[in-house]
Amino acid sequence: MTDAGNKPLSARDKIAKLRATFLEQLPMRVAQAKATLERLKAEPADHGAAVELHRFLHSLKGTGRSFGFRDLGTAAAHGEDLAGELLEVPAKAMPEKWQEKLTESLDYVEMIAGVLCSPEGGDAIKDEPSFTMPTAMPEDTGTRGSVVYICDDEVLTLEQLASQLACFGYEAVTFTEPQNLHDAVLARRPDAIIMDINFPHGQCAGTEMLATLRQETGKAVPAIVLSARDDFAARLAAVQSGGEAYFHKPARPLELVAMLDELTRQQQHERYRILIVDDEPEIASYHGIILQEAGMVTYQLSEPTRVLDVLKEFRPDIVLMDMYMPECNGRDLAKIVRQMPDYVGLPIVYLSSETDRQKQFSAMRIGAEGFLTKPVIPEDLVAAVAIRAERMRTLRSLMARDSLTGLFNHTTTTQLLGSAIATAKRENGSLCFVMIDIDRFKSVNDTHGHPVGDQVILALSRVLQQRLRNSDVVGRYGGEEFAIILADVAIEEAAKLVNELRDDFSRVMFHSASGEFHCTFSAGIASYPAHLRLELLRGAADKALYEAKRSGRNCVVVD
Ligand code: GH3
Ligand code: MG
Ligand code: MG
Repeated sequence: MTDAGNKPLSARDKIAKLRATFLEQLPMRVAQAKATLERLKAEPADHGAAVELHRFLHSLKGTGRSFGFRDLGTAAAHGEDLAGELLEVPAKAMPEKWQEKLTESLDYVEMIAGVLCSPEGGDAIKDEPSFTMPTAMPEDTGTRGSVVYICDDEVLTLEQLASQLACFGYEAVTFTEPQNLHDAVLARRPDAIIMDINFPHGQCAGTEMLATLRQETGKAVPAIVLSARDDFAARLAAVQSGGEAYFHKPARPLELVAMLDELTRQQQHERYRILIVDDEPEIASYHGIILQEAGMVTYQLSEPTRVLDVLKEFRPDIVLMDMYMPECNGRDLAKIVRQMPDYVGLPIVYLSSETDRQKQFSAMRIGAEGFLTKPVIPEDLVAAVAIRAERMRTLRSLMARDSLTGLFNHTTTTQLLGSAIATAKRENGSLCFVMIDIDRFKSVNDTHGHPVGDQVILALSRVLQQRLRNSDVVGRYGGEEFAIILADVAIEEAAKLVNELRDDFSRVMFHSASGEFHCTFSAGIASYPAHLRLELLRGAADKALYEAKRSGRNCVVVD
């Protein structure tokens, strides 16, 4: 059997390969287990041999069942029970006839393994594990420039709205006729639609068009409805045609942007990261494939002793952990992870063929989040992992983020700058650190009030988030100060980018009881490796920012 050309293997093919590898190694492993039993017979006090035998039969049970070799799993389970009894008693008190029973049990395992590995074993091999692949999560495209189609018959409103959305990095395409919008949506799906529903030819044109689009595209494109009316009938028509949000005209661009961010962000789901620790590479890969098919990123680790390095490098959202492993069992490993301050909150879920409730309970007491029993149904595995990973993300973001803007807070930004410098050092890369401060912000508060000041902070955070890459770090460094970390960007490039952001922000229009106004910011940029240490890099960026303020504000100064 050869891999067909360069075509990537399907999940089913990958799993078939894993099963084949498992079967190939089976005779050798059974022979090893028999040798261990002989050692134990010769020296019943050899506790290590008993532990090894028990672990072998335990993992044969789990792996056998996961791969759909039911008879093998049952035979191994019987042997596991026998070997388990030996673990709990001193050599002198070994149960009666333990040698005969274990020999018989291993012979039976060997016989079944022989059938599976023989050419006639084909039928058993076809007995694949039940497999309906769960649906994948939407891909994270990594691009921030969302496309919005706006349809309104008032050209002036339309153009003003489009230019304001552009300040926040949205590519706005405008239409004055619902039919043109319709054709454009079918030609190229936008990330969202903003639709005025009051057209000269009656309110129906707008809502009907939305309803038609919903029928033709499913719920794929979220729609925001604009309307001059604010009565119940108008709102009902909008909801029934599939509008996700309703704005009474004149709609404030800032509020529309907030809604657009929310509606389009749902589609930019960063993939969950799952660390799978299992001493059996095949079974780790098997679970990995299931989770990858559901759109997650996995790391399979078969040597538990490397866990600390891997946690640091891979930064998982959750750890799936086997219970019985040589060198270090799952319980001890979970304890080690829990003792590290950085990982106290990291969810750990056991994935083991241990069915003894008492043992499960004792393993959970370490602070694990759950216990899944092998063989696990793929959908159950995906659901259990996704729920916990999502919860972890939420918790983490509450701790790491600023509550007004949702950007990283000061502490997190500083930590991320530290790790960005470490990465750049390791990979001979570079990075730019940008500090931004809103100009004369005190007078914004004094003139328009503190809540309006908050709106300005929020607007700047949106401009920064929308326009930067997902990989860039954006933090709220202090009250009206922000910081950006741009990895692998030359300082001239960074200056160009920040200047564009500055220009965008200066064109955002703010409203308050005292009228309309604009705001600006100043920025300072410094880079690594020009400054090698965090404090020096930050000091240089701060100094550049001060220089920008001194030379008149609303500008970007490079260190
Ligand atoms: P400069 O151009 O030199 O930066 O002048 P500035 O007025 O922006 O600078 P200054 O540091 O004197 O004032 C910052 C003001 O920002 C003072 C503080 O009340 C206000 N501020 C800090 N955090 C917040 C916040 O969360 N919301 C609001 N509305 N104002 C804030
Ligand atoms: Mg300040
Ligand atoms: Mg300021």
